[in-house]
Amino acid sequence: MTNPLISGTDKNDLAFRTMTNALKPNSALVLFSGGQDSATCLAWALERFDHVETIGFSYGQRHIIELDCRGKLLDGIRAISGEWKKRLGENHTLDIPTLGTISETALTRDVAIEMGEGGLPNTFVPGRNLVFLTFAAALAYRRGIAHVVGGMCETDYSGYPDCRDDTIKALNAALNLGMDRTFELHTPLMWLDKASTWALAGKLGGEALIDLIREQSHTCYLGERGARHDWGYGCGKCPACDLRAKGWREYRPTSIRADSAP
Ligand code: ZN
Repeated sequence: MTNPLISGTDKNDLAFRTMTNALKPNSALVLFSGGQDSATCLAWALERFDHVETIGFSYGQRHIIELDCRGKLLDGIRAISGEWKKRLGENHTLDIPTLGTISETALTRDVAIEMGEGGLPNTFVPGRNLVFLTFAAALAYRRGIAHVVGGMCETDYSGYPDCRDDTIKALNAALNLGMDRTFELHTPLMWLDKASTWALAGKLGGEALIDLIREQSHTCYLGERGARHDWGYGCGKCPACDLRAKGWREYRPTSIRADSAP
């Protein structure tokens, strides 16, 4: 049915918007913060999808250093594989400072990291992953991307309820209903511990990717990059450094055995 209110030019514009909003099935958008997990997820997506874009959020976090690591990580990813370089598309940064304004946490306020009520550390930012994934889906909608990839993990985590597999599945259903799309949320690290995440990076990109993640990714909650440990940079004491270091120590002996196998 023709709409008399739409002029010829508007009709063309409408057709253009419909075309650009159409789903490109083999494209993915990766939540890319610049940490170990999201760098591994990016490599995972680059192995599976023809076109991969990345998204990061400036949400009023105390230490923006993680986001600053992304440029060097992306350069390194392009240098590792010509195929990855071809597939890697735009890197988006979304400014959502309201989340930091309303969050009373150790990642958004100058307070010490400690356990809060109910066994949750005060590094938990309520709603963070829900907001991130919703914004990611909204951007994916506009760019015609069907697959959204995040590094949420239920195995080796700090008890954050928005990292749980059930949360992601429920949100996937809500996004598909609410945007009338068939998004697929992927969480390749969901059932891996940190040692297995290192191993996955090694499987996807060999020692080159392991070295890149050690050198350029950032995990430390305190935003420290002064001291270089064998697992990378960080204070070495906060829960995020602890997890990363523990995973590295468990992974490296396995890796050495695998390297020396015939
Ligand atoms: Zn740390």
